[in-house]
Amino acid sequence: MLFSLKKELIEKEIVFLFNTNIFKINCNDNTLKVINGKRITIIKWREKFINCAGLYTDKIAKIFGLAKHYIVLPFKGSYLQTNKRILNTNVYPVPLLDSFLGVHWTIYKDKTKIGPTAFPVLSRENYHLFENIKINELLQSVIYNLILAIKNDNYRKFALEEMKKYIGKNIFQQGLNLVEFDKEVIEDFKPSEPGIRAQILNTKTIKLEEDFIIEKTDNSIHVLNVVSPGFTSSYPFTKLIVNNYV
Ligand SMILES: Cc1cc2nc3c(=O)[nH]c(=O)nc-3n(C[C@H](O)[C@H](O)[C@H](O)COP(=O)(O)OP(=O)(O)OC[C@H]3O[C@@H](n4cnc5c(N)ncnc54)[C@H](O)[C@@H]3O)c2cc1C
Repeated sequence: MLFSLKKELIEKEIVFLFNTNIFKINCNDNTLKVINGKRITIIKWREKFINCAGLYTDKIAKIFGLAKHYIVLPFKGSYLQTNKRILNTNVYPVPLLDSFLGVHWTIYKDKTKIGPTAFPVLSRENYHLFENIKINELLQSVIYNLILAIKNDNYRKFALEEMKKYIGKNIFQQGLNLVEFDKEVIEDFKPSEPGIRAQILNTKTIKLEEDFIIEKTDNSIHVLNVVSPGFTSSYPFTKLIVNNYV
C-alpha cells in the first residue's frame, strides 16, 4: 500500500529525498540545507514547511520559535517476536487512561509480535544499551524522568508496572489476558528490534502530553507528539492539517 502511495505521489511531482538530513533551516528566507553523504543541497520552500520529524520535531519547531514548553522525552518499546503468524488479526487492550497503549499482539505476513515495553532511554536514538548517547539528551532524560517520578503519582505507578514487564514472562502474562495460547507457542518468541517513541513532555506542567500538538507560523506547520495515530486515522488527521492549517 505504501509503495502505491509513493508511486501516486511521484506522479504528482512530489520529490522524495531518502537518507538526507536537514541540518540547517533559515526560517526568514524559506531555505533548508540538507546533506546526503557528502553532498550538501540548498532547498527553498514556496509556501509552508511542514515539520513531522518524529523524534526531532521539537528541535525543529524551536528553530521557528515554537514548542517553547515541549521536549521529546524518548521511551523505548521492545517486543518479542515469533517467525510464525499465529493470529488472524491484531489484538489491542482497551486503552488505559494514560498515553501508552499497553501490551498488544501485532501480526505481519509471516510473524507475530507481542509488546511493547515503554522504558525511558538516555537519548533519542539510544536503541541498544549505550548506543548513540548524546550528553545534552542524556541530562534532559535523567533530569525530567526524576522530576516526573517525584511530582507525578501516575508516572511512578506507570514506571513500576513497566519494570515488572522485564521480570520473567510478565509481558506474556499481559498478552495472555487478551488471547489464550499454549505454553509451547510462547516459548518460540525471541526479542526483536526495538522502537523509540517521540513522546512530548510539557516542561511547564510536568505532564506527558496525550494528544497531537500542532503549532504554526506564517511559513510553517509543526506536528508534535504523533505517538499513536493508527494507520487508518493518519488519513483523516492529514486532512485535518491540510484543511485547518495549510
Ligand atoms: C515501540 C513503538 C510502538 C508503537 N506502536 C504503535 C501502534 O501500535 N499503533 C500506532 O498507531 N502507532 C504506534 N507507534 C507509533 C508510530 O510508529 C508513530 O506514531 C509513527 O511512526 C509516527 O510517524 P511520523 O511520520 O510522525 O514520525 P516518524 O515515523 O518518526 O518519521 C519521522 C521522519 O523524520 C525524519 N527526520 C527526523 N529529523 C530529521 C532531519 N533533521 N532531517 C531529515 N529527516 C529527519 C526521520 O528520519 C523519520 O524518517 C509505535 C511507536 C513505537 C516506537
